[in-house]
Amino acid sequence: MPIATINPATGEVLKTFDPMPAEQIELCLRAAVNGFTAVKRTSFAQRAAWMRAAADLLEADRDKLAALMTTEMGKTLAASKAEVTKCATGCRYYADHAEGFLADEPRDAKAVNAVRAYTRYQPLGPVLAIMPWNFPLWQAIRFAAPALMAGNVGLLKHASNVPQTALYLGELFTRAGFPDGAFTTLLIGSDKVEAVLADHRVRAATLTGSEAAGRSVAEIAGRYLKKTVLELGGNDPFVVMPSADLDKAAEVGVVARCQNNGQSCIAAKRFIVHTDVYDAFAERFIEKMRALTVGDPMDDDTDVGPLATEQGLHDAEEQVREAVEKGAKVLLGGKRLDRPGWWYPPTVVTDITPQMRMWHEEVFAPVAGLYRASSYEEAIEIANDSPYGLGSNAWTTDPAEQERFANDLDAGMVFVNGMTTSYPQLPFGGVKHSGYGRELAEVGIREFCNMKTVWVG
Ligand code: NDP
Repeated sequence: MPIATINPATGEVLKTFDPMPAEQIELCLRAAVNGFTAVKRTSFAQRAAWMRAAADLLEADRDKLAALMTTEMGKTLAASKAEVTKCATGCRYYADHAEGFLADEPRDAKAVNAVRAYTRYQPLGPVLAIMPWNFPLWQAIRFAAPALMAGNVGLLKHASNVPQTALYLGELFTRAGFPDGAFTTLLIGSDKVEAVLADHRVRAATLTGSEAAGRSVAEIAGRYLKKTVLELGGNDPFVVMPSADLDKAAEVGVVARCQNNGQSCIAAKRFIVHTDVYDAFAERFIEKMRALTVGDPMDDDTDVGPLATEQGLHDAEEQVREAVEKGAKVLLGGKRLDRPGWWYPPTVVTDITPQMRMWHEEVFAPVAGLYRASSYEEAIEIANDSPYGLGSNAWTTDPAEQERFANDLDAGMVFVNGMTTSYPQLPFGGVKHSGYGRELAEVGIREFCNMKTVWVG
């Protein structure tokens, strides 16, 4: 992929960048090492002050930054602004809580014949963050805020289609007061990831993106024995049971599917509806999908903008085409829009079978699959028949059924009567091919720490 800003709403190439040469990567690695030496010696209070300054900068830059993100990857301007605000909140959350999350933990000294025993969290060093374009600011901040508060430093390899957002991020933390090298953007293609990850100065890596990218990075990291956290794709189920509030479920379901123009790992993608309410839900859901306004992402009235990349448009088209060829029915949408840029409309597909790619694969576009289940058991069977296990949604007002869903859904997150969302306060991550490790909350900040055992006799 070229490193370039290409407006997905028009297909126009706005700015191209040369990848960093090896000498410049070397300078960034050296800066990261020096940055780590400086950052790890600072107090939580100092880092918290810088992190709060970063939050203030994000808020001050919000409108300009939001317009840049929309230009680079096509999410609506309103969604971009909300993302900037969420990032400021995330920074403040870790500024407030990092010290508590990483406080020494006393252990049972008597049981281990010690005078004192405790565990202490210490930073690992430079961490490589390989990030995607879909939430170009939040995905990076979700890593950076806890990592920097823990005393680590970050090297960002962002997606090649959001270089200007990446450059903004590369300056943000030094503008806020952090030492040079605390958070550096490497403008490189994915072909250079191995060289960086193999470097002895890089201690760990985190990746949010596709399963293929995750496998590749995990393989490389395994070879060099580096810790990784992987947040990969999802094909989240959205199960609707007879007791559900159907109007609410349909309303939230449409947002859960079409947020970010359908390009979110935790978007609801498979709508598994109990047969008793299938028709009633489908009618409401399709009507609301049809009512969405597709248009210029800069317009206030737009609900759904373009897909971020030409490849993404091609992939979604192919997945739907293959399903239809094998017998699936398109109830809404299903054809790219005839205009410059990469437009795919809100789409509803039914009669999807395990022989089709759509049954197993993530569709990164506003394409909902509707599935009919004759019982709770069948709903769970369909929901769990997926290589992925990231988020999941269940709609039921029956408390016993809510408990069953919490137990039975094979996913990292279960949201009952609501949409899967990432909150700084809640652990975020998946199982199976959705990756491993957790981001956010107290577990997220500990992922890139050495939990050191101290025994004092
Ligand atoms: P990728 O996984 O290819 O891109 C995500 C990041 O990983 C980018 O920085 C990319 O760099 C980098 N990358 C890609 N391949 C490698 C590799 N072999 N080694 C190291 N780094 C790599 O996602 P795409 O943009 O291609 O989207 C493809 C599909 O991935 C989507 O349709 C969706 O299903 C899934 N996806 C899931 C996301 C999520 O939030 N979980 C986010 C984005 C995509 P570069 O841009 O330079 O290639």
